[in-house]
Amino acid sequence: MLNKFKFFLFFYLLVTAFPCKILATPRMSIVYTVSFPSPETHEIQVKMAVTGIHQSHLLLKMPVWIPGSYLIREFSKSVEMLTAEHEDQNLQVHKVAKNEWAVYTPHIHTVIIKYTVYAFERSVQNSFADISHAFLSNPGIFIYPSGMLTTASIVHVLPYKNWTTVSTSLAPIKGDSNTFFAPNYNVLFDSPFEIGNQDLINFKVKNTNYQMVIYGSGNYNKQRMVKDLTRVIEKQTEIFGENPNRNYLFILHNYQQLTGDGLEHLNSSVVELSRDMFTDSTLYHIFLNVMAHEHFHLWNGKRLRPIALGPFNYDRENYTSELWIVEGFTRYYENTTVNRTKLFSVNYYLHELSQNISFVVNQSGRPYESLAEASFDAWIKLYRHNENSANSTINYYNQGALIAMLLDLEIIHDSHGAYRLDDAMRYMYDLYEKKRHRGYTDLEFRTGTEKFTNRNLSKFYKNYINGTLPIDIDHYLNFAGYKLVDENAGTNNPWVGTYTEPINGNLKITEMVRNSSFYQAGLNVNDIITGIDNSPVIDLSAAVKNKKPGDVIGVSALRDGLPMTFKVKLLRRPYVQYHI
Ligand SMILES: [Zn+2]
Repeated sequence: MLNKFKFFLFFYLLVTAFPCKILATPRMSIVYTVSFPSPETHEIQVKMAVTGIHQSHLLLKMPVWIPGSYLIREFSKSVEMLTAEHEDQNLQVHKVAKNEWAVYTPHIHTVIIKYTVYAFERSVQNSFADISHAFLSNPGIFIYPSGMLTTASIVHVLPYKNWTTVSTSLAPIKGDSNTFFAPNYNVLFDSPFEIGNQDLINFKVKNTNYQMVIYGSGNYNKQRMVKDLTRVIEKQTEIFGENPNRNYLFILHNYQQLTGDGLEHLNSSVVELSRDMFTDSTLYHIFLNVMAHEHFHLWNGKRLRPIALGPFNYDRENYTSELWIVEGFTRYYENTTVNRTKLFSVNYYLHELSQNISFVVNQSGRPYESLAEASFDAWIKLYRHNENSANSTINYYNQGALIAMLLDLEIIHDSHGAYRLDDAMRYMYDLYEKKRHRGYTDLEFRTGTEKFTNRNLSKFYKNYINGTLPIDIDHYLNFAGYKLVDENAGTNNPWVGTYTEPINGNLKITEMVRNSSFYQAGLNVNDIITGIDNSPVIDLSAAVKNKKPGDVIGVSALRDGLPMTFKVKLLRRPYVQYHI
């Protein structure tokens, strides 16, 4: 056993050191068959038929992350019972890394690999199967031969007995039902599947065929959705001058809880929605924003992209300092392009921008992390929130959207209205995606923007992208004749500065805001507040409502079960609430 392992380890080191020389077998063909014999167990069966093997050993891998979501998810943790066979003879399989398997293939040219994927994590990044449907998030479904990411494959889906429909943006193979072609693994991993009895809505915008597939009931109105989405898509396409996709698929998952998560793909996107959000005007606006956001990514993020984001390394983190462009600019354009449809009043748009500015200014982590750092560390910070995250990190979605707004105003001002940020985005899309077929570097995005601002942005970058200086937002808003008004100006309300949750009639602290009243008095996360000034407390804000900044209150608490008391000097609530 040990000796065999040593042999595989030797071979593994050999093939990973020289992957191209040993594994370059252009005639390899790969066919996957995905089936769901018992979806109620959340098990997905995958059969991978590989032919054209010309080495004594096949190294198989599974990605550890899914592009668009910057977290190591270790998809291989859900793989079970992986076996390999040739003409009904079992072949030796050894696990050589957390996401790698070595199959011993001496003098063998064809192998059948079989494995099970447990899929019960409901999100846009993970696969899911139950009796009602299956959603395949492909990096967690398909293992691939190491070093062969450019190899084409075929995927054949066998739906569960009463499931009627297989939806994916992969090209169907004519004549073979539920069979699809992936020209390479980058495309396969970026083309999720929805399989079940989903509602299907087809529409066309200019030269692109759109399909919306909806899992889960909901109070949606198909005609209204198509009409409104068409306008959003038209406004977005005008910015870049073309839609590079002939076909685009929206996969919608309707659930009970209020949500609005999404994940962009090359020519599709997956969004999680609340099934009752389509009739309330505010919630319907959120629905359109989520759809606009994911759709805008087909340009910004999937094609116009930082150089680190494609082609991808699926084995590890892919670091970039530009997620504030990928996500922040997309957040800005989600609001802006929905506003351009004129489906809602411009006041709604100004309210969204105001809320975003207030959010950015109120972040307690703002002095401690720049936009570039927040992007780079997304893997260990934004996607791994803990009780101290708000104190030490910023949100590059919101702050990046603010930067996009400032640059848009700057360009309009500097060019006397001849250009706006749209023109810079289109210029860089044409240059890096269409002409050079690669991502941009940090400097290239900056110099591309400078062509339209007509001024050097090095100080802007130093202060606001790589630095943490407060931004004079009014300076930019003034270009459009606007200014910020703080509705909290002149207020003198006491500030507790904690987040709590009820526990056995008391309040447990879940987050402490840095430098707040309770923070300075020495209270901690996980302390259980049992009273204020010797009275029970069920609502902290209500308990200090009649106090003023400067007042001192006595707080009784339990820490790890032991009683403690604190004297808390209340500070003034420092938050802004702007309107433009
Ligand atoms: Zn996004």
